[in-house]
Amino acid sequence: MKKFLLAVDEGTTSCRAVLFSLHDKRAVCSYSQPLNVSYPFDGWVEQDAGEIFEKQMLCVRRIFETTSYDPACVIAVGVTNQRESTVIWDRKTGAPLAPCIGWQCRRTAGEIERIRKQGLESTIKKKTGLVADAYFSATKLEWLLDNTPGARDKAAAGELLAGTLDSYLIYRMTGGGRHITDVTNASRTMLFNINSMDWDDELLSMFRIPRKILPAVTECAGHFGTTEIAGRRIPICGIAGDQQASLVGQACFDKGDVKCTYGTGAFVLANIGAKPRITRSPLLTTVAYKIGGETAYAFEGSVFNAGSVMSWLQSIGLISSASESEAIASGVPDSGGVYLIPAFTGMGAPYWNMNCRAAILGLTRATEKAHIVRAALECIALRSGEVYDLMTDALGMPLGALNADGGMSRNSLLLSTQADVIGAPVRKSREIECTALGAAYLAGIGAGVIKGVEEIKRTHAYEAAFEPSQDGLKAERLKAGWKQAVGTLLTDSAT
Ligand code: ADP
Repeated sequence: MKKFLLAVDEGTTSCRAVLFSLHDKRAVCSYSQPLNVSYPFDGWVEQDAGEIFEKQMLCVRRIFETTSYDPACVIAVGVTNQRESTVIWDRKTGAPLAPCIGWQCRRTAGEIERIRKQGLESTIKKKTGLVADAYFSATKLEWLLDNTPGARDKAAAGELLAGTLDSYLIYRMTGGGRHITDVTNASRTMLFNINSMDWDDELLSMFRIPRKILPAVTECAGHFGTTEIAGRRIPICGIAGDQQASLVGQACFDKGDVKCTYGTGAFVLANIGAKPRITRSPLLTTVAYKIGGETAYAFEGSVFNAGSVMSWLQSIGLISSASESEAIASGVPDSGGVYLIPAFTGMGAPYWNMNCRAAILGLTRATEKAHIVRAALECIALRSGEVYDLMTDALGMPLGALNADGGMSRNSLLLSTQADVIGAPVRKSREIECTALGAAYLAGIGAGVIKGVEEIKRTHAYEAAFEPSQDGLKAERLKAGWKQAVGTLLTDSAT
């Protein structure tokens, strides 16, 4: 009888369940549901954790209701999730006590300012590997405790529990049996010391968080309770935050292995080995995974706008679909000196400038639509390349081939440009949903049906490889023009 691993993949705008065949690790079916996100005030982002749980379970049920797959053939479940978003809930009922504060929410930016003014940033970076920011869970949880009526009393009475969405989902999936989170999700809270691998008492008191409301921290693969699917009890054996799950899903288990997930934004993570190297650079250091007692760490850098640039081109009518961008851009040999700087919401590493805004530079009367579309694809490769270069410098050794996944990795022109820009090969994973695949891999390891990371390294499959072009000069010219264009934009936005 064929065996399967089930990934529960909880994203920001949608959640899905994906069934993978254990035999060849290919996705055999998936079911997804859109999730509501609300923006009650400027900069606030909220979701309903109860709705997320219900929809996630609906996806799981539908897999088996709409196909002939039998839940009895599912060996284990792996959970992966949007990171940092924070929930508090009632221990007895499991009901959320307030809306979940989303990772993009800026409501606690003032609190971060206070922390910065007190000079606590470097303590935070040293302990957590993170840049002090409202993005992470600590100030979100502090806010929830301070602003939800009765929350602090309930917390003191042991009636309130807190966590990120993995924690909430697993609590509900196990019928309140397990209050846990894994090391990767914990490492995004700004409360977890990535050196000692435990909640940090100094940080807990800085943010006034009682330790007892926090989940126990587990490895990424193991036995984490059971959940009921269509009358069967199936063990939960894998947990990881989405970006770390895709690092695992890309088999990046050696120091210097690096992946980029090209979705709405682009997330670059590089495995940096067993030591938490914390640099002065704007890169984050985060826990990559902990499996079988072995911890690996990663550098993380992100490009805020990637696929969203394609959505914008579509919204202004330059392309009719994201996939059309490749054919249009291939109609010209280069972008004709046009640069699109995708700073729609500022720019992350290495610039960290939240005030600059997007621009198109270098237009002439000879500029055609195809040049602009090509410049839009090139800018995603150029921005991701900057993060890759920053990581190479910070690690002090060359990184390996860049492993690409996510919706935009369907675009071969993007990936071949990426190879040119970084001067290293880019490999496209056979499975572009590497986040779900990573959760399934972890579940397989936890259940003992995948024999550790070595088996994944041996069997992980790529669909295509893109080698950097022989003509390195062309890429150098592209990069030099880009630097000049960004320089112009940043100078203008500073004045
Ligand atoms: P997310 O998980 O962030 O929602 P996905 O991984 O599903 O994103 O990727 C969707 C993004 O990829 C969209 O922004 C879409 O515009 C872009 N995209 C999908 N296919 C292509 C393509 N062939 N070329 C360029 N962009 C694409």
